[in-house]
Parts: sequence; structure tokens; C-alpha cells
Amino acid sequence: MLSAHRIALKPNNKQATYFKKACGVARFAYNWALAEWKSQYAVHQADPALSKPNEAGLRRQLNAIKREHFPWMLEVTKNAPQMAIIQLGQAFRNFFAGRAKYPRFRKKGVDDRFTLSNDQFKVVGKRIRIPCLGWVRMRESVRFGGKVISATVSRTADRWFVSVTVDAGDLSCRSAESQGITGVDLGVSALATLADGTKKPGPRPHKSLLRRLRRLSRSLSRKLETAKVLAGVEPGEAIPKGRRIPLSQNSRKIKQRLARLHARIANIRNDALHKLTTDLTRRYNTIVIEDLNVNGMVRNRRLARSIMDMGFGEFRRQLLYKAAWRRRQVLLAGHFFPSSKACSECGGIMTDLPLSVRKWTCPECRTNHDRDHNAAKNLLAWGRAKLAGTASSAGSQACGEARLWPWLQGHGETGLDEAGSQLCSCLSRNEQV
Ligand SMILES: [Zn+2]
Repeated sequence: MLSAHRIALKPNNKQATYFKKACGVARFAYNWALAEWKSQYAVHQADPALSKPNEAGLRRQLNAIKREHFPWMLEVTKNAPQMAIIQLGQAFRNFFAGRAKYPRFRKKGVDDRFTLSNDQFKVVGKRIRIPCLGWVRMRESVRFGGKVISATVSRTADRWFVSVTVDAGDLSCRSAESQGITGVDLGVSALATLADGTKKPGPRPHKSLLRRLRRLSRSLSRKLETAKVLAGVEPGEAIPKGRRIPLSQNSRKIKQRLARLHARIANIRNDALHKLTTDLTRRYNTIVIEDLNVNGMVRNRRLARSIMDMGFGEFRRQLLYKAAWRRRQVLLAGHFFPSSKACSECGGIMTDLPLSVRKWTCPECRTNHDRDHNAAKNLLAWGRAKLAGTASSAGSQACGEARLWPWLQGHGETGLDEAGSQLCSCLSRNEQV
């Protein structure tokens, strides 16, 4: 299994300058190759006798001309531009396979990074050796043993990190106590609610640092406005495309402080998510979560900040890979599964339950529900039913808990697989009896 360990670096000034240069060279090579790819493809379309562009050809082409045309590229390791073009090749493969969008040009200051292949660097203890530079100190040593695949040096705000990818083989972690199966509802008020009723409070970093964020952003936008006017752009007008506006030293400083604040908020959020996902995968064999349509929800502006705060997509990513480490199972209930709107006691569906309602009473069985706890219980019931379905030995109890299945069928849930339909047929048989 490929695992990446991201470690903060402690570069001195000279090393940080080298990193900036190497990122610049990698970005240039990537963008050069992308432009070249586009033009060669256009030529190929006009005359199919000419070959299509490819990653290896572009690397040879750049190597042939770089000494003459881009001599500054030689200041850093030749691996940086090479790996950038290899990554472009991968981006195109992902695009052709329908996994990703068409590759776009990289922007300065956005995800600055360069990658080294495993024959180009060496990790010994808390140090990494970078070609043309020497040893750079790391904050900690790499935690995974196994074959080292590659290393990517990247920047977040003003800090440098190296992400070392290792093929660690079978990474089965120690499995701690297992409490079987649970449902987890990710919420807006609490970070997560488990089916047994425990609530994990979220750190909500955005809220507590929001005021500082607002003040800094306002300050920066005022300074940018001044810079625009000084550069001769009408106030309130957008900067023309391709035009560079010189920034004052103060606005540079504010920009950096803002970047650091954003990074800090992201760190706080990630810390809470990592603790939650580690705890869940340690304690439970099977974890049932809702397969949230994160993109759709973020489009709803009022919900957006809370959801971004919690990082639902990241939660799911972490849970899936940690479950694989510990040989746990994660079940995803489809988008249309009414986890919040169904009563976990009688299975009745509330048609209207706005998000602001945190507690409600079922009109049919008069049970008082906490919104998130109820949803977690529904997810648990769904997961049990699903498991019983896959085991194809759906007992009457499992069927009793699968009350929600008819609803899913009636509303045309798309994600019904073999196991699901099996279960439903079993359910209808029981009802006939
Ligand atoms: Zn009810």
C-alpha cells in the first residue's frame, strides 16, 4: 500500500531560496510542456501523419533546448523539471481515463512544489539529502518502513514540507478493542454523532479566528485597492488579465500573515479530523457514514462555512484509508438515504425537516429525537441491514431493521447493488407472511 508521510522541513535561508527556485523551474517546465502539448496536438489534428505529443518526447525536447534557452534551469536539480513533465503525462492519462479534468497551467504561489524520484534523494533519520543542495533537516523521521517511491517538497504559507511516498507493503496496524458496528452522522452543530449517542464536538476553528481573518482580509483588500489606483487602474474595476500590479511591502506582509492564518485554521481542523477518524477505525469494525454530496451542499451558501469548517470530504478520505490500514469496513449510504428525516423508532418519514430543527418529535410514535443521534441510529440500522444482505442470510431481525428499504426503492435510489435488491426481496417476503 502506498502511504505518504508529510514532514515539516527546517531549511536555512539558502535552502529555502533553492526550494523556491526549484518550484519555479518545476512550474515552468510543467507549463512549457502543457503549451507544447496543446500546439503539437493541434498540428497532429491538422496533419494526422505527424505523431501525437507524449510525455517522454517532451522531456527529450526540453533537455535538448534548455541549455541554450533556459540556462537558469541548471541552477537546480534536473529531476525537478523532468518529474514535472512526468506529472503532466499522468495528468493527461487521468484526463483520458475520465478521472480528471483537462490539465491546467500551474500558477505561481498556488501549490508551489517539486518532486524528486527515489534515486535522487536520500532520507537518513531526521535529514533528507536533496541533489545540488545537500542535507536539509526535517522535524521528524519517516514513520513508515519500506521502499521509498518519491518525495515532494511543497510550501504552505511560509513553511516548507516534504511528503515522502513509501510503498509500505501491508500496513496492518494494531487493532484495538472492537465494538462491532456504528453509524456516524456528521453534523453542523457537533463534528460527529455516533449511534450510541456520543457527540464529538468540532473545533470550529473558523468561527473563533473569523474576526482576525476578516480584519486581515479587509486590510489587504484596502491595500490592493490603493495599489491598483497607483498603477492607474480605475477604482472598483477589475485588474486587466495579464497585468501585474506592484505590491507594497506592507501588503506583502499582510498577505503572508493571512496565508499563515489560513494554514493555522486548516491545521486545527485537520487535527480534530485525524483524531476522530483514528478513534473510529480503532474502535469499530464497521463504520456506516452518509455519502454526502459535498459539492452540492457547499453550493448552499448558508451551510457552506460550517461544512467547509468541518471538512466532510477530508473526513471520508481519512476514514477510508485508515479503515484499509486496520482492515475495517466503511459503508456509504447513498445521498438520498433519508437518515435525518426518518424516525429511527417507527420508520416514518418526516417530509419537512429544515436544518435549523435540532430536536423533533415523531408525529406517529411520539418519540423525541435529537436530529444527529437519530440520523446516526438510522445509518447503523441501514448498515446492519446491508451487512445481512451481503451475507445473504438476512434473518427476521435484520429485516425488521431494514424498514427504510422500501422508501429507497420507491424514490429510485441509484446506488442499489446486488446486496440491496436481495435484501428488499427478503423484506417483502416477510411482510407477506
Ligand atoms: Zn416514529
